[in-house]
Amino acid sequence: MGLKDAREAAIGRGVEPQSQVSPLERPVTVLRGVGSERAALLSRLGIRSVEDLLLHRPRRYEDRRVIGRISELRLRVPGSTAGKIVAQGVKTWKRKARSVFEIILEDGTGRLHCRWWDMPYMEQYFHVGDTVLVYGKPSSMRPLTIDHPETEIIEQGEEASIHIGRIVPVYPLTEGLTQRWVRSLVWQALDRFGSEVAEPWPGMSLAGYMSRAEAVRRLHFPESLEEAETARQRLALDEFTSFQIPLQRRRRNLELNVRALPCAGDNRLIRPFLKQLEFKLTEAQTRVLRELRSDMSGPHPMRRLLQGDVGSGKTVVAACVALMAIESGYNVAIMAPTEILAEQHAQNFTKWFGPLGVRVVLLTGSHKPGVDSENGQIRNAAPNLYVGTHALIEPAFAPDNLGLVIIDEQHKFGVAQREKLVRKGSYPHLLVMTATPIPRTLGLTIYGDLDVSVIDAEPPGRGRVRTFVRSTASLPKVWDFVSKKLNEGRQAYVVCPRIDNGDTADGIAAVMREFESVQRTLAPHKVGVLHGRLGAAEKQLVMDQFRSGILKVLVATSVIEVGVDVPNATVMVIENAEMFGLAQLHQLRGRIRRGPHEAYCILVASARTKEARERLRVLEETADGFRVAEEDLKLRGPGEMLGVAQSGAPAFRFGDLARDLRIIEDARVRAARLVRDL
Ligand code: ADP
Ligand code: MG
Repeated sequence: MGLKDAREAAIGRGVEPQSQVSPLERPVTVLRGVGSERAALLSRLGIRSVEDLLLHRPRRYEDRRVIGRISELRLRVPGSTAGKIVAQGVKTWKRKARSVFEIILEDGTGRLHCRWWDMPYMEQYFHVGDTVLVYGKPSSMRPLTIDHPETEIIEQGEEASIHIGRIVPVYPLTEGLTQRWVRSLVWQALDRFGSEVAEPWPGMSLAGYMSRAEAVRRLHFPESLEEAETARQRLALDEFTSFQIPLQRRRRNLELNVRALPCAGDNRLIRPFLKQLEFKLTEAQTRVLRELRSDMSGPHPMRRLLQGDVGSGKTVVAACVALMAIESGYNVAIMAPTEILAEQHAQNFTKWFGPLGVRVVLLTGSHKPGVDSENGQIRNAAPNLYVGTHALIEPAFAPDNLGLVIIDEQHKFGVAQREKLVRKGSYPHLLVMTATPIPRTLGLTIYGDLDVSVIDAEPPGRGRVRTFVRSTASLPKVWDFVSKKLNEGRQAYVVCPRIDNGDTADGIAAVMREFESVQRTLAPHKVGVLHGRLGAAEKQLVMDQFRSGILKVLVATSVIEVGVDVPNATVMVIENAEMFGLAQLHQLRGRIRRGPHEAYCILVASARTKEARERLRVLEETADGFRVAEEDLKLRGPGEMLGVAQSGAPAFRFGDLARDLRIIEDARVRAARLVRDL
């Protein structure tokens, strides 16, 4: 985020930014050497203003305080060195279809060959006698060779001090721009405009961070690598702060302007409900319920995230809060991300609430209750529980007296959808539930405006899931194992990745092929199939047959990922497991640890991808969802990890969600203070 955005974010509500335009907002063409052609190249890197250039983050640094000798290079270890070109030339073959361009460098300690394959035009950039800086990984020692190194020709003259004898930045580039040119341009920009870099929130104490101006300078030309890192941290702080401001403002608005609906209830429904449950709430569930009750009777509307690993028992907790609101005379809406899940909730809640005289109304794309509609709108006088999918966001759903909104598996929804549902009432309480173990950094970022409750212990008597990573070569053994478990009376899932190359038909065909093959392999056990193209009634039928045990095996895409609950299903085979993220696999295997039987999750990865199999071993080693999630966050980044672009996981330029917890916490405190002081 640029300074301008940051300033606007800080000022927010109608307070006009100071009218004078910062020199940093001027186009890059104010810099010497940038005409329209180069400006066009820079804009491909997202650089239009001087400020954009100053915030162009180096992708790495090279320590050129002491240039390494050629003789010090090691096989397959990245290193930098320099030497004079003593020979160069292009060789071609296959009628010039293939070529290799080579330069040979010498520095008095040895010779280094640098080669570029099929890039004959490289020849024009080098001349015998040039001194060249090289960065790369030697691929052979005899002769010492680096293929496709990064290079820079050292020129004589004053600007040399920018490029050697210091730690230098190495930038992301685009064709037509060189490191050396961009580096000089940044140097010029810092020289002329560096002192114009202002604090985005002038009154705010720096508390251990360097000034923004200092950070921008050190980002490009640090004295040490540690200094580059401290500079990054300062810029990350600004980024996180800007991100937190609207979240904290939303929260502050609620606190200042909104009285909460009194929804704590009087226990008259919860008491009989808990009595007829076939189990006792765990301590963790009871503790969370206390937190929720205190929110529901508090002065401000509840805004709470409930985190709990798959199978930790969030649904009963949701049922209890729903009853609190219903006891208080308010309607409740629960939104789930898939029809299957909404239907499962509706079944559960009908079973639970029917005897209490509370009506449960199911609302999905394919299921709209006709009888309850008046004037085309769905209304009802007595407090109801509405369970549905995105259909709840549609205008047709307009309940009176909405006291509580519950969103299950929040990461499948965007923040915008969440808000849309909340706005159907007059500031109802909000409970967001998620099974994705979100690392704290990410949680604070996406859910910075929510309080957090965690169900950190699971119901007693659960078997564990033993997880195995296997290659396709051992599939016959895997199927033998599955048959054995089926003969013992258990049920199994076979999960295929949804192949999203834009062509759903392809993906469905793959699932159908797998279905047929599994049917043959596991005969005479009955096998069903579930995928996104089935109609709601068909899906429902398949799920019912699986739940009741008519179907022994369910071949499915990851539509079963969330929420489906069949305690007798204790075996899961996940094919092409390398195509899933770790967190998603963890969610999937959570489906099979619902009952007392030991459960088995077999991750089958193609034999060719050894690295992918290594990555999957994390799941063999740990059952701790948070560890899995952190691993996933490191490996794949937040957007991928949560599996949905609209998850609200932002892309930060300087911030790093895998390791900036302390900075995010600082940013949150700052943002809250800024919002309070405005
Ligand atoms: P999730 O947190 O993934 O939504 P669910 O709410 O679906 O988990 O609960 C998983 C299973 O555990 C359900 O079959 C539910 O009935 C059961 N369950 C929930 N709480 C308890 C408890 N305290 N004791 C025993 N079983 C429980
Ligand atoms: Mg659930």
